[in-house]
Amino acid sequence: MQNLFRYCSICCLLLSHLVGGTSAAGPDERKPYFPPQKVSVLPILHVPKGLPAPDPALARMIYRHVQWSQRRYQELLGTTFKIAVPATKMYRGRYTLAEYRAFDNKVGPHIHAQHLHHLNVTRFNCPYVLFTVLYNPENGFPSGRGGSVNGGFNTGGGTVLMSSHDFTERPNAQSTIQHELGHAFGLPHVDAYGYPLKGDSPSIMTYNPKHHTNRFRPSSQPGILIAEDIRGLALNDRVFPDLDFDPEKHIPQGYEISPTIKSNSAGSYLGVPDYKLKSRPMPGKRRGRIFRMQCVCESPPVPAPQSASTDASCGFQMPSMASPALTLKFPFPVELSSMRIYSGHSGAYHPVTSASVMVPGDGGNYRELGSSDFQSLDGQVMFDTTESRSWRLALTPGKSRKVVLRGIRFYSGDIDIFRPAICLVKP
Ligand SMILES: [Zn+2]
Repeated sequence: MQNLFRYCSICCLLLSHLVGGTSAAGPDERKPYFPPQKVSVLPILHVPKGLPAPDPALARMIYRHVQWSQRRYQELLGTTFKIAVPATKMYRGRYTLAEYRAFDNKVGPHIHAQHLHHLNVTRFNCPYVLFTVLYNPENGFPSGRGGSVNGGFNTGGGTVLMSSHDFTERPNAQSTIQHELGHAFGLPHVDAYGYPLKGDSPSIMTYNPKHHTNRFRPSSQPGILIAEDIRGLALNDRVFPDLDFDPEKHIPQGYEISPTIKSNSAGSYLGVPDYKLKSRPMPGKRRGRIFRMQCVCESPPVPAPQSASTDASCGFQMPSMASPALTLKFPFPVELSSMRIYSGHSGAYHPVTSASVMVPGDGGNYRELGSSDFQSLDGQVMFDTTESRSWRLALTPGKSRKVVLRGIRFYSGDIDIFRPAICLVKP
């Protein structure tokens, strides 16, 4: 029992090393909404209140499985994720097993919120995939699940939740771990790309029973990472800094890779603000259509309708306005010093020619912080470091009097905050 309570002090030490140690600006200057520089996998055995401590062999088995997954990703990618600690951390939960059951599908938000709190990190700066096994000596609750904390790729940490039953009573824990870690790194199921989820896909991001491992024995037909999976993981520099997607190497001959990149959405955690930036056209300018905010697309030099990079649905399309404007609202005040604006469709149409950034001032008016004339489709507005929850972006269209935005990025110094779920543009 004593061991269970060591978790907090050990992790506080660990954090001073892993979080504070990786800070470029120094721990005091980093805001709680700055993203982590690196993300590693933290194995946790979560023991519900009132249950006796599990056999230490369980914690060792969990760790051995995470190490096997780490080796499997190495085989498939030529690089792999890091494990944060040398042994599974034990954590005594706030609730009984019966209470966790009553949370039903919300059990993950309840459990992961406890870990964020105890690790003294936020959903924004959490440098871990919280790989959590709920100790449940009775049955298979909860079913395995995983996701990226803030949705998409490279936006921060991740979560996995499995039951100890998956390890002790079922043979295929390992194939499940490989799959759930894929979700934690940002990957969706393959049906997002139109491949059957329960069919014969070779991807680990399916429910293909042929991939099932048997205890510590691999499947005779193990799951792999298909080209779409590798392309997604390569966007996650915080987990896989050495992985680059190389079409020649990663797309098999004759294989038609899906042109669009898909990912998963952000999780919700109890008592924790959402990773959500609200945006809307200025009042009275309702003709502007707003699509997904959390994406920044590339702009190809020539129109290519089949290409993901021409997908205007990742940004804003605001037709026929002399001076389109957006209001942007963060879940709390954020400190910014520049915005990068990516405009134009198909590399040619509907550019922004100049942009101005404003914040609310006295008497309900907006105060301009800075403006910039764009030399190309993309531009940057820099201004004195300012903290505000609400922001306004005024855009000047070109001859077409219409603007298409492929995305916006927000910087506090050189740190991009509220990074988009899918970002195909280098800074
Ligand atoms: Zn899944």
